[in-house]
Amino acid sequence: MKKKSYLDNPATLKIDLMLRGLRIADPLVKAWACGATGIDIMLPGRTIANIPCSEGFTAASPYAIRKRGERYAITDGTGEVEVSLVPRPKFYDGKTSTGVSFSKIAQVHGSLLVITPSPACEFFNAKVECRYCAGNFDRTGKEDAVYTVEDVVETVGAAIAELGSPVVYLSIGFSRDPSGGMEFLRPYLQAIKRHYNCLTAVEALPPKDNHWIDETYAMGADSALYNVEIYDEELFKIICPGRATLIGRKRYLDALEYAAKIFPSGTVSSHLIVGLEPPGSTCQGIDFLTGIGVVPVLPIYRPTTNKALRIDPLTTEIIIPVYKHLYKAVKTKGINLNWVRDLSMVTTPVELKGLVEGAGKNVSLVDTFYGTRLGKKAAWGMSTLRRKLRVKGTHGQSGH
Ligand code: SF4
Repeated sequence: MKKKSYLDNPATLKIDLMLRGLRIADPLVKAWACGATGIDIMLPGRTIANIPCSEGFTAASPYAIRKRGERYAITDGTGEVEVSLVPRPKFYDGKTSTGVSFSKIAQVHGSLLVITPSPACEFFNAKVECRYCAGNFDRTGKEDAVYTVEDVVETVGAAIAELGSPVVYLSIGFSRDPSGGMEFLRPYLQAIKRHYNCLTAVEALPPKDNHWIDETYAMGADSALYNVEIYDEELFKIICPGRATLIGRKRYLDALEYAAKIFPSGTVSSHLIVGLEPPGSTCQGIDFLTGIGVVPVLPIYRPTTNKALRIDPLTTEIIIPVYKHLYKAVKTKGINLNWVRDLSMVTTPVELKGLVEGAGKNVSLVDTFYGTRLGKKAAWGMSTLRRKLRVKGTHGQSGH
């Protein structure tokens, strides 16, 4: 039987590569990927993918990367496709004026500049951490490392000087703070907005009270993520015991529904991890989230030796219908797809256009207005205007 190949379609190739990983023999490429969560590679159609390359399961991958003169190609043994390595940002080599490496504070993932000012999660102290968590935020018995607002602002400045206009993505682990972490993130968010004309996203916990969602928008966040991760109620309790007992699945869903009424269409998202629940249950999650105006973001679970939770068998043939379902659901519900795009860690609905509507090789799936520098500026302008109107309206209603 002829071996199935995904090389011709960037969307399916991205899914297959993210699921199976990449074998790297070339020492130069190995050095490139070294120490990172995976390697960022630009596939055809300007589809950017962060591909696992160090986890044990990648040794069995059919994919390998080869140097072809000055270029690179990914082969699956049946053919090959030209790709390019996303260069390591130069600003990573710099430091803040207090001596902290920029690369410690921020990581570039596609169009996102990801910053976690306090890399700690209190779920670990209570021993209720998510079962799939790699443990990077486990500070049990260690000193807290919190980056100052000034260090973060300097880092964002260095990244913007090199990259143009990344979306600054601020995230926070679990804390018992009723604001879901927004009170802590407020000075960072406001300082970034004061210094730079950039778009921002916050990944936080659903706050106890909805007024914090209004506040989050008023503070300057252009996008909000409350990641429920697992839609199935029982699996959610088992895999995410902290989220289930200290926040509750219902609170995630209610907060997302409220946020989707406050933020512009397409800017409120929630992760559903593919591979930790049956595909049918991920599809139910997609239906629910899109039904309340939320964009589901579907990362593929990467098992590590001691966290091999994956529901098997998980193959690209099984996953593709889930992503097709995602694309159709966001289209049917008329959710704006311009915000969740150009992400290396996940396949976004925009990239699936080619999969569902049949675009072939070398068709750019992301080259639309909002992907350009001018488009990002326009998006920033529109979001600022919208916030002003929205915040005025909110204050008018609550009588502040
Ligand atoms: S919320 Fe869960 S996945 Fe995130 S850092 Fe805490 S334990 Fe890890």
